Amino acid sequence: MTGELIILVQRQGIVILLNGPVLQYLGRVILKDFILAYDIEYRRYLNVTNRCTNNCAFCIRKTDSGVGYNLWLTREPGYDEIKDALGDPSGYSEVVFCGYGEPLVRLDLVRDVSRFIKDSYGSVIRVNTNGHADLLHGRGSVERLKGLVDRINISLNAENEDKYREICRPSFGPGTHDAVIQFAGSCVGVIPDITLSVVDWPGVDIEKCREIAESMGVAFRVRQPDGTRQV
Ligand code: SF4
Repeated sequence: MTGELIILVQRQGIVILLNGPVLQYLGRVILKDFILAYDIEYRRYLNVTNRCTNNCAFCIRKTDSGVGYNLWLTREPGYDEIKDALGDPSGYSEVVFCGYGEPLVRLDLVRDVSRFIKDSYGSVIRVNTNGHADLLHGRGSVERLKGLVDRINISLNAENEDKYREICRPSFGPGTHDAVIQFAGSCVGVIPDITLSVVDWPGVDIEKCREIAESMGVAFRVRQPDGTRQV
């Protein structure tokens, strides 16, 4: 072994410095965990990125067990890799873009994979998103998903800007809560089934969040911090 240090990967905030055989061994272990598709009940999930423009206090990525799979990626997967990992989703109730990150960071990839799924299998497709797509890609970004995505679940998570910034800590800073609501509004007439969701978190006014959803004519859902949900 030489004394040369190599940065292998940053996982859960920890940078691992290794060299020689240890590097090769850990490299194999980590690559084995390169999970791009996983199942929960009768749904197939696609894990397309670990990047996110929020840093939510309740993020499941911060827990030891997560969703029960190691969804940390050593790099961003390409279109062909996701297509291969998808398998045949015909027997599933839906295909969901949702991993350890915000899928619409990779909006065009989500569009392309969705088109493949629709053309090949006709599956119902859902996207779980933090609602920052317009901030990332410009106004009207959801139009790129028209006719492909059937359901969109947008995390509202707070009734106002101050609470949102306190809980979700968005990298876009002031105005992000308004942008999420605006994005949800832009989905109306584009995506058939829209849900605004909140996590049942201390200090969040669930009823005010429900009122926002009702005023927009979209569905509303309350999720528990561990990922389970209630209507
Ligand atoms: S938006 Fe989702 S993935 Fe991003 S930090 Fe919040 S809970 Fe985690």
